[in-house]
Amino acid sequence: MIQYKNKNITIFQSPLFQTNASVIETADMVLVVDPTTLPHEIIEIRNYVSTIRKGRPIYVLFTHSDWDHILGYNGIGEVMYIGSETMMTRDDKERIIEQIKSFDDQYYLVRDYEVDYPHIDCLVSKDGQQLKIGDTIITFYTAPGHTEDGIFTIIEPIGIFLSGDYLSDIEFPYIYSSSYAYENTMTKIDNILEHHLIHLLIPGHGHPTEDCQEILKRKTDSLTYIHELRSALENEDEKRADKLLEGWQFPKIMGEYHKGNKDLIQKELKTSTY
Ligand SMILES: [Zn+2]
Repeated sequence: MIQYKNKNITIFQSPLFQTNASVIETADMVLVVDPTTLPHEIIEIRNYVSTIRKGRPIYVLFTHSDWDHILGYNGIGEVMYIGSETMMTRDDKERIIEQIKSFDDQYYLVRDYEVDYPHIDCLVSKDGQQLKIGDTIITFYTAPGHTEDGIFTIIEPIGIFLSGDYLSDIEFPYIYSSSYAYENTMTKIDNILEHHLIHLLIPGHGHPTEDCQEILKRKTDSLTYIHELRSALENEDEKRADKLLEGWQFPKIMGEYHKGNKDLIQKELKTSTY
């Protein structure tokens, strides 16, 4: 499962949706990010964490509440949970649990822990909020747009930027919440690169990168997709809107996400005209 490794970080990538689960270790703590997806993959991550732990506290961070990112809740052991306050206040938690249950049901998957919606101990509610654990400084930024409850997380001094379901090289923006909020979240990237020394970006899906120019390119690509899609829909140019789907690796499923984006932006355009 290991797709990237250095002194401080091990990235376990599930073949399902190429989802990244990261284990980050500093002298002060072990942080597990979005442990996922299949039962044996969660066990592999849990075992790895218990081997390297050496008495340090364990934290599990959820970048947002999508089912495939939170299904490892309870799966790592006795830990402290970090996530956004919005994750806790959403009123459709039952729906998210149902998504996990039907996934497990569909593939006859049995887990050795209880699937549940996360209870978060350390709540993130605003930009620049920090959590200090010894010499490790974790800084958060709210990141709505994909879902309402996403967060960006920066770990210093090691310089890791966890972007959740933003800044992926294998996905265009999947917009479930708001395209305007998504754009606003993208504008935070420049500020983050200016104020923090980033050595590695880890997105929720796809490839990590050590290159800041690549991070900026991913940001620009996301904004271009949203602007172009909105403009095409304003001009009722379906062909131009669907051109945005060209070149992506998984056109069948991604076509559905693209359609979802179109429906959402259409709706936004209609409500903003009146
Ligand atoms: Zn995801």
